[in-house]
Amino acid sequence: MSTSQASRDATSQKKIQAIRGMNDLLPEQSVLWQYVERQIQALMRRYGYAEIRTPIVEQTALFKRSIGEVTDIVEKEMYTFDDRNGDSLTLRPEGTASCVRAAMEHGLLHNQTQRLWYQGPMFRHERPQKGRYRQFHQVGVEAFGLEGPDIDAELILLSARLWKQLGLFDQVTLELNSLGSPQARAAYRDTLVRYFEAHHEVLDEDSRRRLSTNPLRILDSKNPAMADMLADAPRLMDHLDAESKAHFERLTAMLDAAGISYVINPRLVRGLDYYSRTVFEWTTTALGSQGTVCAGGRFDGLVEQLGGKPVPAVGFAMGIERLILLLDTLDLIPEAARGELDVYLLPMSDATEPAALLLAERLREALPALHLQLHCGGGSFKSRMKKADRSGARLALLLGEDELAEGSVTLKFLREEREQQRVPQTGLADTLTSLLTGESFA
Ligand code: ATP
Ligand code: MG
Repeated sequence: MSTSQASRDATSQKKIQAIRGMNDLLPEQSVLWQYVERQIQALMRRYGYAEIRTPIVEQTALFKRSIGEVTDIVEKEMYTFDDRNGDSLTLRPEGTASCVRAAMEHGLLHNQTQRLWYQGPMFRHERPQKGRYRQFHQVGVEAFGLEGPDIDAELILLSARLWKQLGLFDQVTLELNSLGSPQARAAYRDTLVRYFEAHHEVLDEDSRRRLSTNPLRILDSKNPAMADMLADAPRLMDHLDAESKAHFERLTAMLDAAGISYVINPRLVRGLDYYSRTVFEWTTTALGSQGTVCAGGRFDGLVEQLGGKPVPAVGFAMGIERLILLLDTLDLIPEAARGELDVYLLPMSDATEPAALLLAERLREALPALHLQLHCGGGSFKSRMKKADRSGARLALLLGEDELAEGSVTLKFLREEREQQRVPQTGLADTLTSLLTGESFA
């Protein structure tokens, strides 16, 4: 191939980029994710919830049957494709359906209760914007086999504890509603449709379409032109069946007793079909319009809807991107979580490289919590020092030939005005421990 041909080929090749709405997590971000993930993992263990991991691809029918044909997700947001066998598959848009499918398939719901959680990527073809992506991540929690409001309260308390752990509790509001039994909801639906029909001229196009498919979702509309009409709409809360009403009252009494405040939002309906009775959302005003950080509710009918014996269930999911955005916006990520280096260890010449490698290992052996990076790749003295400065570490350890000969290292403070000093390698672990804020690194 001639050179001009080669360069033509190179320029005609467009750079391949990530898919719109799907994000790379670079190291600066991934440490924040790890911080949040660690908190969540520990929290789940404290409450006795076990993790379940399911594939990210499922048969399309699973989502159609569980989420519902006339929901936003199934109508326009799913990544659905035929695989090579011609089977219709879908990248999971949420986790509950997969969790229920797996629990049924493995007999986890037979005469027993289950408290499960999951985490991972979800996929929805939405318009990407701040806090809304096409691949995003959720942590979800689901409890099966328990019908009383005590478990609903536990899930709310679990999420509240997470907000407290993360320093977010003052930033979020709990909104609650009850959707009642399917029968009560069907009766209410008729009442609501009659009300909307009487106000047909105020309905926007989306709402007119929903009038026959999913009229409850109209209540969720953010269109200001419909606000007054919606404010006067009949309230589901006033049409609950007696059992659902009692269930809801017991839930709120437990939350009152636990000191968790909430706002009853009669228009909170959730976008998925499978909910009944309790629904809730934790919202924030700090993220603009993508203000829901956590959302859930009861889905007593779902297992049966997917072909199993009826099993009461309740759960929630939270969006990790929004959670991290919120923590970052409010500057609530502790310095220590940013995963910075404590020590940058540098051999001053090629001759001390083997000894530096061994010293690095000895220090890691002695101090398992120490964050130490070894300089690799040689270079001039100047470029080595520049790398040490750029590493962000607090201390540099310099190993030159003199130090090697006398069994010492030179200790340099990278972030404070302080004389460098030569210290013996014996006892170096203790020296580092006391220098680095006095915390124990062992
Ligand atoms: P929204 O009303 O914001 O579209 P939703 O009702 O579709 O939310 P759920 O399906 O209940 O949301 O998902 C639970 C949580 O997952 C949301 O509260 C949010 O934090 C997060 N989430 C949902 N969709 C996205 C997305 N496209 N990008 C990022 N996070 C999302
Ligand atoms: Mg949505």
